[in-house]
Amino acid sequence: MKETYEGINHLDEDLKPVPLAKWEIEWRNILSISYMHLITPYAIYLMITQATWQTNLFAYILYVVSLIGVTAGAHRLWSHRSYKAKAPLQIILLIFHSIAHQGSAFHWARDHRVHHKYTDTDADPHNSNRGFFYCHIGWIFLKKNPKAIAKGKCIDISDLMADRLLQLQHKYYYFVAPSLCVLMPTLLPTVWGENVWNAFYINGFRIIFSLHSTLLINSLAHMWGAKPYEKDINPTENMIVSFFATGEGFHNFHHTFPQDYRAAELGGYKLNISRLFIDIMAKIGWAYDLKTVSEEIVEKRVNRTGDGSHPVYGFNEHTDLHIEYSKSQIRQKGT
Ligand SMILES: [Zn+2]
Ligand SMILES: [Zn+2]
Repeated sequence: MKETYEGINHLDEDLKPVPLAKWEIEWRNILSISYMHLITPYAIYLMITQATWQTNLFAYILYVVSLIGVTAGAHRLWSHRSYKAKAPLQIILLIFHSIAHQGSAFHWARDHRVHHKYTDTDADPHNSNRGFFYCHIGWIFLKKNPKAIAKGKCIDISDLMADRLLQLQHKYYYFVAPSLCVLMPTLLPTVWGENVWNAFYINGFRIIFSLHSTLLINSLAHMWGAKPYEKDINPTENMIVSFFATGEGFHNFHHTFPQDYRAAELGGYKLNISRLFIDIMAKIGWAYDLKTVSEEIVEKRVNRTGDGSHPVYGFNEHTDLHIEYSKSQIRQKGT
């Protein structure tokens, strides 16, 4: 047994990866995701040649807000309880999350807790030791493996079960998600004169682009990058992932200190739009009790278990952050 920060992030020795007994295909996911890939070239063609600039801008806005719903909502709020949110913010985050169409926030948070507790073992729904394709998208094409189901039942989700707004989205998810993820983005652009089919195809591309941006956290940020905080785990610091997934690429930090609402120590706002969003919500009082880990704890951890790539506390020759920091800059930007 290996214990890390406050015991949340641990690996059981008996959960080493083993081959799956058999593959059970999730045909509904394969067909819907394949369809969205097939229409992508046509959607890009429409964006360049026919769509109005308002429709393209609208697709970009939906991409960003849906990622905020997933990262600031399902991830940092409901999975990790790294801050608290008043009801209006919870409703906004549930709407944003529904636009992404990644399953209910309740299921998302439950599975993510399993991911953290059994990271990169067979009980992890997207075990990165099975290779890039599996942890990126292959796991969605298969029914969940029995170990992940069994261990998922042992995870404490009593707070998620008692969360009325979360359960409301879960109960009506198959009405709410298609309405906000497909119907609204297809019909609303007709208000500014867009062809309804242009809007439909471009929205399909937006959904698959958002999905891949999120999935990069499970694949790229579990396979490539520096490990300045904990060198003995797969999760890494990967700035490409932070760019596409609104700040979730500081993944070595996040798996080491999962309660920190920033899900990052470095990078400020420019690679962490979700942190910017939470901070703005805190300014107007809708987000509160924001949890952060102290600089002293980070420094001790870096010196004890880091790979030496931390740009301030460690020897930085091997870092891939490409950002120069000093301790005072961290203090200004860190909390
Ligand atoms: Zn997490
Ligand atoms: Zn992870």
